Amino acid sequence: ERIGFAIVGLGAYALNQIIPNLANTQGAKLTALVSGNTEKAREVGKAYGISSDHIYDYDNFDRIALDDTVDVVYIILPNTLHRSMTERAFAAGKHVLCEKPMAITVEDCEAMIQAGKAAGKKLMIGYRAQYDPYNLKAIELVRGKDGKPGQIGDVRLFTSDHGRLLNLDHTRDQWRAKKELAGGGALYDIGIYALNGARYMFDEEPTEVMARFREGSGRSEVTVEEGVEWSMAFPSKAVATCTTSYLVAQGKLMHIYGAEGTVSLNPATDYFERNLTFQPAEGPQQHFSFPLANQFAAMLDEMASAVREDREPKTPGEEGLKDVRIMEAIYESARKQKPVSL
Ligand code: NAD
Repeated sequence: ERIGFAIVGLGAYALNQIIPNLANTQGAKLTALVSGNTEKAREVGKAYGISSDHIYDYDNFDRIALDDTVDVVYIILPNTLHRSMTERAFAAGKHVLCEKPMAITVEDCEAMIQAGKAAGKKLMIGYRAQYDPYNLKAIELVRGKDGKPGQIGDVRLFTSDHGRLLNLDHTRDQWRAKKELAGGGALYDIGIYALNGARYMFDEEPTEVMARFREGSGRSEVTVEEGVEWSMAFPSKAVATCTTSYLVAQGKLMHIYGAEGTVSLNPATDYFERNLTFQPAEGPQQHFSFPLANQFAAMLDEMASAVREDREPKTPGEEGLKDVRIMEAIYESARKQKPVSL
């Protein structure tokens, strides 16, 4: 029996990536929709075979408690709404999959984790890159696997640039421009891929961050930061240097440098295309290809399996909390113009 998912928020990511990919999973299925726009929800429901009994809005959402077809509530809303929706979903007795960034503050994240524990339900954050075969292979090249060492020798440096154009003509970017809905700017939206990438490539937690804000565009509608650059020091003495920007066409790359080679992912975090190479100290560059890779389906299947097997998902709330804690430190460092210890 497939695990039933209710999708909350019928925006770009939900409609274009997540809802279509539920059909590509082994163990998940779409069973309900939650939207403030009932007409849109009915249309989507018609396309995916969801009857109006399983369509909710934000006023009647709590009735989802009585909907046995729904096991998991997947929250794909503007960032500042993640916490309250998560709490409502747990109160309704459902498991929660929540988009990144998990929430805005450490306090919000801790409250979400607590709510899940109190309800005895799972909480997972939608870190799709951690389910992507290209990123998983890169991790294996860097860190090794099953007791075998990695191939780049001592790991020294991670660099990552993550950027996109914040385009106020698009509704999906209008809330991203506003602090009260987005919580943060480029860092919370896409810089988080660099931050999370450094943590999973190194498999350790940073001890210090040093950051600075970049000049913004000056657009009056934009009340979040449009660029940050930061570095992170790790206990192994490895260093990560990262940038994020809302003022470039695109940037989705990661490089991991070791004493004996370099692993490059460019793009690392695109929806459709990833390009993974390993350059050893000597000899030709190696390329890797995973034609069937579907990070969305793999991520959804992890949530379904965690529910079915009654175990912690691979990217639980605690993983989201770690990133938010570091992002708060990045902002603090940029504001104070000095390093911040973690
Ligand atoms: P979007 O604007 O396309 O969708 C957001 C939806 O929330 C819209 O349908 C909107 O109507 C709805 N909404 C409900 N209450 C709202 C309110 N008060 N104000 C504004 N909108 C409201 O945005 P999106 O790009 O789909 O992003 C949604 C979430 O998904 C964000 O948290 C984002 O970080 C995350 N996301 C993750 C990925 C990923 O690859 N993991 C990709 C895109 C977005």
